[in-house]
Amino acid sequence: MEEKVVEIQGLMKSFGDLDVLKGVDLDLYKGENLVVLGKSGSGKSVLIKIMVGLLKQDEGSMKVLGQEVSTLGTKALNELRLKIGFSFQNSALYDSMTVRENMEFPLVRNVKNLTRGEITRKIEELLDSVGLPQSINQMPSELSGGQKKRIGVARTLILNPEIMLYDEPTAGLDPITCMDINNLIVQVREQYNTSSIVITHDLTCAKVTGDRQAVLLDGQFKAIGSFDDVFAHAKDGRVKSFYDYNF
Ligand code: ADP
Ligand code: MG
Repeated sequence: MEEKVVEIQGLMKSFGDLDVLKGVDLDLYKGENLVVLGKSGSGKSVLIKIMVGLLKQDEGSMKVLGQEVSTLGTKALNELRLKIGFSFQNSALYDSMTVRENMEFPLVRNVKNLTRGEITRKIEELLDSVGLPQSINQMPSELSGGQKKRIGVARTLILNPEIMLYDEPTAGLDPITCMDINNLIVQVREQYNTSSIVITHDLTCAKVTGDRQAVLLDGQFKAIGSFDDVFAHAKDGRVKSFYDYNF
């Protein structure tokens, strides 16, 4: 796990008087699942928005797949985004479209030379791997919350991303469905060779999905390492209390 697919150094971002990121350093290595933990409002979503060029940092460096994101023009940024699968918090399926249409959408828009048959095969393969092979002609309203999440993950995978960003993938789900999604995140990494960042404040999700944990506190990563290193042997009292409140 030597190659870095994301390199963040000294990243700072404020909104007016509100300093959100205050010198963030973090690397994502090829093939790993890295969990970013932090309480609501700590800047987790801001961090991944900078990663995909939806926000610009004030200071510091954000390199994704070797490119400094803030310097990219529209075309290069769009090309980079095709290599990143991001499922945003509350990102939903289009309710008026079938599962097939929801999944076709990014393909048809971004990959021009696929036949109808190839598109169908690709969709079927992905629905199969998220455990919903029968859902292709269903409407989102016919699916449970957990099933919609699964379709969302499948849709994100359709462009073969190198990096997956999951922003609070288990938010609002019951514990059993959470576990389902956690297992899916692990499975996706193994099956599709992605490198992933999983943003969550759910410690079970963190433990199950993460090869490493990074705790964002007061605008910086205060602890980075294995689950046990970060929580069982936490030196920073605030990291410890984050754990104590969750369990
Ligand atoms: P979370 O860790 O819960 O994902 P966010 O990254 O969404 O937190 O937000 C961190 C802080 O930055 C919050 O206080 C939020 O209100 C603020 N913030 C995020 N985006 C913007 C924006 N575009 N303009 C102003 N403030 C923002
Ligand atoms: Mg967020």
